[in-house]
Amino acid sequence: MTEQQKSFMKQAIELSQMGMDSGVGGPFGCVIVKNGQIIGKGSNAVSSTNDPTAHAEVVAIRDACKNLNSFQLEGCELYTSCEPCPMCLGAIYWARPSKVYYANTKKDAAAAGFDDQFIYEELELPLEERSIPFHQFMRDDAKGVFENWIKKENKTVY
Ligand SMILES: [Zn+2]
Repeated sequence: MTEQQKSFMKQAIELSQMGMDSGVGGPFGCVIVKNGQIIGKGSNAVSSTNDPTAHAEVVAIRDACKNLNSFQLEGCELYTSCEPCPMCLGAIYWARPSKVYYANTKKDAAAAGFDDQFIYEELELPLEERSIPFHQFMRDDAKGVFENWIKKENKTVY
């Protein structure tokens, strides 16, 4: 890793400490870099904002996308103090940065009381056997909207 990359990760780790110390949320931080510049950052803010989706990576992705005025993070690198959970992994794939660097592993997170292994296990289960059961109905009604989308002109494809 280059000195610059180490400095970006150091800032992500500092955000994780600061967020925890200031009572914003859990010990997680993230910075997003484009062309050698930090264009977005965040720390976990779940408990202070009552937002279960306010993980450091999601907060940083929202910040970076706002600053770039784009819903894509093409050509960006994401530095996070911990290996992303499944939700953040999904958000990262939707945002499409070019690379992710992480410091703590998900095993380290589990040892600190942040275990997301159960979500990976849930993914393997049939929908009706998950701890939060999913039930499907009214597909035909909902499908009409997809048909409208397919026919729609002047849409922003993402
Ligand atoms: Zn997460």
